[in-house]
Amino acid sequence: EIGTAGLEARAAALLETERTVFERRRPLAAAVHAAAGPGFFDGVPQHWMLDWPSPFPPIIETATGVTLTDIDGNRVTDLCLGDTGAMFGHGPEPVLRALANAGTRGLTTMLPSSDAQAVGRLLAERFGLPRWQLAATASDANRFAIRIARAVTGRAQLLVFDGCYHGAVDDTLVDLVDGRTVARRNLLGQVRDPGDLTVSVPFNDEDALAVALAGGDIACVLAEPVMTNCGMILPDPGFHATLRRLTRAAGTLLLIDETHTISSGPGGYTRLHGLEPDLMVMGKPIGGGIPVSVWGMTEAISDRLRAVRSRQSGHGHSGIGTTLSGSAIQLACLRACLEEVMTDEAYRLMNARADRIEAGFEAAIVENDLDWTVSRVGARLEIVFSPRPVRNAQEAREAASDTVEQALHLSMLNLGYLLTPFHNMVLVSPALSTDQADGLVAAFANVLARLTGKEH
Ligand code: PMP
Repeated sequence: EIGTAGLEARAAALLETERTVFERRRPLAAAVHAAAGPGFFDGVPQHWMLDWPSPFPPIIETATGVTLTDIDGNRVTDLCLGDTGAMFGHGPEPVLRALANAGTRGLTTMLPSSDAQAVGRLLAERFGLPRWQLAATASDANRFAIRIARAVTGRAQLLVFDGCYHGAVDDTLVDLVDGRTVARRNLLGQVRDPGDLTVSVPFNDEDALAVALAGGDIACVLAEPVMTNCGMILPDPGFHATLRRLTRAAGTLLLIDETHTISSGPGGYTRLHGLEPDLMVMGKPIGGGIPVSVWGMTEAISDRLRAVRSRQSGHGHSGIGTTLSGSAIQLACLRACLEEVMTDEAYRLMNARADRIEAGFEAAIVENDLDWTVSRVGARLEIVFSPRPVRNAQEAREAASDTVEQALHLSMLNLGYLLTPFHNMVLVSPALSTDQADGLVAAFANVLARLTGKEH
């Protein structure tokens, strides 16, 4: 076995070599990156696009299926899929058709379109909650669902799990440090102490959860059913049952964020495992890649919401909804995606490829004497640098290594496979062929051999 220090040293050297390889293949993108004229801040439409492990981001000319082609003519197979926004492949045919068709019928009117009733029914049938609303992003949907939870319970506090990410939602951007809930380190312009209204507890810690809920002041628990933004943390057997029992006993609502775990199956992790949330949120791939998200609630919550609203006077400015939410274009794409893209057959393909990749990755890890595991939720796989699955964010942080992760990602990219940055995630689209899955496994084995010095 190579040991942590040896691995880190080899990863640092590999990263240097791979940066040069990346750069040499992309003279056009390098020139764009070096140009300093007026335009975007830091030269990119989102400042974090510079945070990938490459010296500068590749500039994408086309993305179709699982193939990205950059302006320098490099083609790579995409296992990042826009961090889930394109989970069903880039530009699924039914969504492209819906877009073209909707374009001739008007994009946004602030009125329900003729697709609205069908989409509402499709959401209710698929996800098991009867009442739905639309928003533009999963961040927005979470914000709105939290607001509803506070409105109907009359409570202020929110509970999240340490290591969570639920989008750009102020109340959730916290970390658990020495037992205290504090603002996450890199937040910009953070003036309020989010620990005033949010309590963070370790995932899988039933005792900490019970203590936090016992005060009776928590409006809702917001949780991913499997934590996917801090490595990947699976729930212990029985954890979800306890979470539901304790929240019910405390009069606290349960808000499940399925934005990433929709990789589990057509009805998300919730449907697959029979969870019983009061509220549910989903975004990213639900409209095939256009900005749309959904949030749903039980009949009981919608009754309570109507009661709250009936005590109000006047209209507008509820703090919920944005102008372009609920638009004709969103409804058209949602309908196409729910009816024709997110099918049982699509999930069957995704799972079959993911089975193959999981087995291949595990074999490569063993072959290279590495103490790593592969965690999985349906079509979503995470390589964790730990000999056993991590149970909470603290364990996930201890297992992580930026250098090894970056070396792995950049080497894989130079071999033609794009992984999701900031963790080790591989997302499997139905558009990924068996050959591409096998190619991915071979590239992974190749990189592990170089990382561990076993290549000769
Ligand atoms: N929920 C979860 C679980 C997420 O992982 C993310 C983004 N990674 C979001 C919500 C927010 O999604 P968006 O950035 O599209 O608003």
